[in-house]
Amino acid sequence: MTELPDRRLLLVHAHPDDESINNGATMAKYAAEGAHVTLVTCTLGEHGEVIPPELQHLTGADLGAHRLGELTAAMRELGVEDFRLLGGKGRYEDSGMMGIADNDDPASLWQADVDDAARALVEVILEVRPQVLVTYDPDGGYGHPDHIQAHRIAMRAAELAVDAGWEIPKIYWNRVPRTVAEEAFARLQVDLPGLPFSKAATVDDVPGVVDDERITTVIDGTAYAAAKAAAMIAHGTQIDVAELYFALSNELAQPLFTTEYYELVHGERGARTESDLFAGVTLGEAS
Ligand SMILES: [Zn+2]
Repeated sequence: MTELPDRRLLLVHAHPDDESINNGATMAKYAAEGAHVTLVTCTLGEHGEVIPPELQHLTGADLGAHRLGELTAAMRELGVEDFRLLGGKGRYEDSGMMGIADNDDPASLWQADVDDAARALVEVILEVRPQVLVTYDPDGGYGHPDHIQAHRIAMRAAELAVDAGWEIPKIYWNRVPRTVAEEAFARLQVDLPGLPFSKAATVDDVPGVVDDERITTVIDGTAYAAAKAAAMIAHGTQIDVAELYFALSNELAQPLFTTEYYELVHGERGARTESDLFAGVTLGEAS
């Protein structure tokens, strides 16, 4: 194995686009600073709703293949070279929104055995030896089956990796502080008439919103705002971006956050409010 940089960050996401929406600025920042950034995406989002009318004929595996192309383009924008699909391409399929028949498809991520899927992730963990893992909270941020399952797989893999010889020093969940979300939506109300979106989402539509005191870590991605927006634009079947806002297929405008927020759930906090996911981590361990 070629030697990896001292700082190694692993992110686990459900579908192509989740990484850019949640962590695009963080990924671009650490990649630009020379850290090794690894993205593991669990499914290709084969059941995502397609926004552009001219691409709405894409469904199932065709949509998955198209979204892999979007993910590849997004990673180019963020400067991330190491991105993988959990268990290899096509191993786990999108389960669709909670309650639909696709949830019961044996190929879906929702039906996957968590330990099996976690073992596929442990292989990546042992190869990359990340000091930081980023994923969703137990609700997957907003209750989507694949996001819930991605959380379970990531947390279980971190556990199994300890027995296999690598304890990930710090684990974070994606968050948005409530006051930041509220202020951003207040601004959105003012800006909405000038945007190509007719309606706004609400704070409750934003995944991972929690009371401010639960935020342990603030990553200022201002310098990477353009990279994040470009990565989101690359996911053209899923996201419409306009200025500091974007919409998913529901066409409800929401703020595009270029400062990204995290809650440390495992490991030692490096500062009262961390501005670095690696804060307090001893670097230079065998890689
Ligand atoms: Zn998703």
